[in-house]
Order: sequence, then structure tokens, then C-alpha cells
Amino acid sequence: MDLEKTLLRKVGQAIERFDMIRDGDRVAVGLSGGKDSVTLLEALLLLQKRAPIDFQVCAFTVEQGKFLSPIAPFGDYLKERNVEWLYVRDEPSFRLLEEQPDHGCDMCSRFRRRAVYDIAKKMGANVIALGHTADDFCESLLRNAMFTGRLSALPAVTWSAKKDFRLIRPLVFVTEEITRNFAGALAAPVIPCGCSQKTGTVRRTLRDIFGELEKEHPYLKENLLSAMGNIDVDRLLDPRYLPAGAGGGANARPASAELFPVVMEL
Ligand code: SF4
Repeated sequence: MDLEKTLLRKVGQAIERFDMIRDGDRVAVGLSGGKDSVTLLEALLLLQKRAPIDFQVCAFTVEQGKFLSPIAPFGDYLKERNVEWLYVRDEPSFRLLEEQPDHGCDMCSRFRRRAVYDIAKKMGANVIALGHTADDFCESLLRNAMFTGRLSALPAVTWSAKKDFRLIRPLVFVTEEITRNFAGALAAPVIPCGCSQKTGTVRRTLRDIFGELEKEHPYLKENLLSAMGNIDVDRLLDPRYLPAGAGGGANARPASAELFPVVMEL
């Protein structure tokens, strides 16, 4: 199907451009129960059959107490597809939920990260694949620029602190319109997360803004992704990238909060 071709082309481009997967890798896909990560898993399984290199794919899910329905149908779906899957109830996350029900994303992600590394180690994986999409990259770019005073989004490839895992985001060029349609066509079960239904967050507001603008400018996210890979440093304000005599030079430091006070809202 065309959708599958488009998905595989975009995932293949990301893997190649950022050298995400190498011969002999064992890739553990983090399944959140949503459309994005299940699309990522299917894309990697399809590419595994066609790739000129040899790599393995397995999957895991961390239960942090936020799923709104039982995970069992998801397990059945993966069993049918012969995917090795580890489902782990993370007790520290449950305790956090009990003790601090209003904890923010920062703390939740920190707990998840620790659990993810433990699981990946148990599964013998050296690569962890995460389901962040092009939409997440674009939202992250705008959120960071507007609320933290930094021009940054998400890393396509990064490493765990001890360098024992490579973390990759192969859906960087794949929009959620594609994951929604692809996961829908697979009839994969989607396990909703309580957080995804919260309203009034910055993320939701940005999504609404994108939705509105995209009615007239359908390639908005593609343009933003393209901008992230095509930086015109001379036309930004970071002295580290400006020539001497125009604010830059050997001792140049980043424009700091002293120069441009920013409100850290996120
Ligand atoms: S949205 Fe919910 S599940 Fe995701 S990081 Fe934030 S608190 Fe955790």
C-alpha cells in the first residue's frame, strides 16, 4: 500500500541519515500502547526483512499506572505477530503516583527512563527505539524556543549516560497523520493513556495552532523539519556562531539569561 511505502521511505531515510541502526544491533522498541510506537514497531519489522544489514527487533512496555484500559489485547496482538515483548509494571512509578499524584512530566520521564534501561538490559538490547514523531519534534522546537529560551528540539540519536544504549527516534520524518492512518489500517489495539486526554496543556494548544495553520499551509511540519536541518547561524543571535567583529570570537558565550531574561515555564 502507498501508506506503507511512504512510511518505510521516511523511516529508512531517518535510519540512514542519522546512522541509527547498525549490523548486529538488537533494537528494543518502547511501546506506549499508542499509534506511534506500534507504527514504529511494524516499520522496523518490515525494514528488518529488506535491510542489507542484520538486526533484531524486540519490544517492551512500561506500566506506570496511567493506562486507561487493560493492556492484555496489546499482548495478544504482539503474540500473534511473534514479537518478543516484555511488559513491566514499574513499582516506583506506582508509588510516585500514590505519593505525588500531580507530579509533572519531568519526574514521570525520569522514572520511566530508569525502568527502560533496566528492561533493555534484561532483553539484551543495545539500541532503544522511541516513537517520537515529526509532530513531536516540531512541537518540541516551538516549546523550547518559546518557554525555555533555547533553540532546540529532540535528538534523533543520543546515548544513555553510561553510553551502554543508543537511543533512536526513527519516526523523526513521519507525521502523526501517517501513524494514525497506518495504525488504523493494521487494526492494532490502542491503549489510551490518561495523560493524553488532559486538556489545556501547552502541547495541546500548539497542536491546535498547527491544525489551524495546516488548513492553509499543509507542509508546515515538513518546513519546520527542514529548518532544523538547515540552520543559518549568521541570522541568529548566538555569539558562539557569529564572526569576530559581529559579536562572536574566541571567548564568545551563549546569549544568557542575564542578557535576555526568560521565564522558565516548562
Ligand atoms: S504525559 Fe503523562 S505519561 Fe507522559 S511524561 Fe507526562 S506525566 Fe508521564
